Amino acid sequence: MPALNATQPPFGLMQDWPLTVDRVLEHARVNHGHREIVSRSVEGPIVRETYADLYARARQVSTALLEDCVQPGDRIATLAWNGARHMELWFGAMGIGAVLHTVNPRLFPEQIAWIINDAGDTHMFFDLTFLPIVEQLAEKCPAVRRWVLMTDEAHAPPAGKIPNLAIYESFIAGKSRDVTWGNFDERTAAGLCYTSGTTGNPKGVLYSHRSNVLHSLTSLQRDSLGFSVDDVIMPIVPLFHANAWGITFSAPAVGAKLVMPGSKMDGPSIYELMDAEKVTFSAAVPTVWLMLKQYLEETGKRLPHLDRIVVAGSAVPEAILRSYEDDYGVKVFHAWGMTEMSPLGSMGATTPEFREQGKDAVQRNKLKQGRPSFGVEMKIVDDNGNELPRDGKTTGHLVVRGPAIAGAYFKNAGGNILDKDGYFDTGDVAHMCPLGYMQITDRAKDVIKSGGEWISSIDIENIAVGHPAVANAAAIGLAHPKWDERPLLVIELKPGQSASREDILAFLTGKIAKWWLPDDVAFVEKIPLGATGKLNKLQLRQTFRGYTWPEQAVAAR
Ligand code: ADP
Repeated sequence: MPALNATQPPFGLMQDWPLTVDRVLEHARVNHGHREIVSRSVEGPIVRETYADLYARARQVSTALLEDCVQPGDRIATLAWNGARHMELWFGAMGIGAVLHTVNPRLFPEQIAWIINDAGDTHMFFDLTFLPIVEQLAEKCPAVRRWVLMTDEAHAPPAGKIPNLAIYESFIAGKSRDVTWGNFDERTAAGLCYTSGTTGNPKGVLYSHRSNVLHSLTSLQRDSLGFSVDDVIMPIVPLFHANAWGITFSAPAVGAKLVMPGSKMDGPSIYELMDAEKVTFSAAVPTVWLMLKQYLEETGKRLPHLDRIVVAGSAVPEAILRSYEDDYGVKVFHAWGMTEMSPLGSMGATTPEFREQGKDAVQRNKLKQGRPSFGVEMKIVDDNGNELPRDGKTTGHLVVRGPAIAGAYFKNAGGNILDKDGYFDTGDVAHMCPLGYMQITDRAKDVIKSGGEWISSIDIENIAVGHPAVANAAAIGLAHPKWDERPLLVIELKPGQSASREDILAFLTGKIAKWWLPDDVAFVEKIPLGATGKLNKLQLRQTFRGYTWPEQAVAAR
């Protein structure tokens, strides 16, 4: 076939406009330059800057990096909370074709060192909070040639153990803003984020400029995040948790005001900032919403400006959904996604079919993980990859495809991750209904298989946290002499509250199938959480390995 050029049919004749993320901030500067980014700084005070300031300072970051010999493709790491400086780095690094690598500071120092070395980071920017961790990391990460403490000289510590340490404000002070951004292939790598890897080593997900821009356009659909310039958005979900679910791009794309909580994510601090800045939209994992709910209940305070929240990362418990909607008038959107998906995969926006049935039907349906936005294809398949019916009950492996979904891991870790049709196996087990609502019943590695049938641990947990004395719950499958595996329900009680095994089982009875009822209930001081706030079931299974079931439970089945 002869080579085609852009002036010959069948090509269209539209302008070619590479989808690079610097254009998002350029748009915000030109059209929304005065809108604010308000941050609770790690040093303490609330700091205000505009998108115009952010743009200017991000360009200074670019020059500083270039003068420090950063090359396109170099990985620039951060150990940082949500704040304006983190955003400046974001665009300053990506704009010149470097890769912004967010590292999750909640991991153990050894894991952090492993990730930094695997990524081959050349620079590490970190908040004051992480100085003690970085002091341990410096000698373990020889490839990092510059450590930058994200503060000013007034807050800098006396010279210490960290070699090649720079102070952020001095590092960028007086640097030229005359720097070229973009001007490269839209498929150029822009960001790197390691998944938590509950099995094996963490794996890097390498986002491209194109995937970030497409994901932000996708998420701006009204049935997804649907932001507007009217919104005041507080991403409580950290930037190191899959780009704060893309908010770092989607908020500037519409010029929404941003409110960054910094290191303080407890109920009172979140409330204070939300109230003062009149936040209309926020996104976080269920644990955060639970803490804020407890604070509101204790104080009788309300959040009149808060219009809607996204709950994702783990399933939204019914008690949280109903309380925010019914008691506080906040619309709750349940989303599902993965680091590998940039991360949004589906969203529980309501369709007319449920709205017509009334509020209760709408809320029950919102407990499902929802429907994909344009840009994500999903289906459920059996063990051989055959598509299963969308009948609302047949469960199978959830697989996904799309331009903002990983095609391989960084350095090809784990080899080929796609099936013959290009679908990525999410590792989640789910069913879909004829209207396209997907509901996760488990992680493949967490399913409880009793007598050959799957029991949904998520269903059991969601009901259990509705018990007034229960702070958190985890259902795990443990070996059983007759049924292969049976569920053990692990309960963390709220401070000062009490409940017995029988109370909990009675509370579950009638709400789930009889054979799903846990065979026993164990009470623990604290349910272990992973680095992104999810139940750490691997640790729980280890803790309860070899568990002895009560005799009556074994006999009863
Ligand atoms: P990490 O890899 O750090 O655990 P991810 O955000 O990539 O973080 O985790 C993705 C997984 O989290 C999904 O595959 C799914 O198991 C779980 N998850 C995310 N959102 C939900 C949700 N709304 N309901 C149930 N599980 C969820």
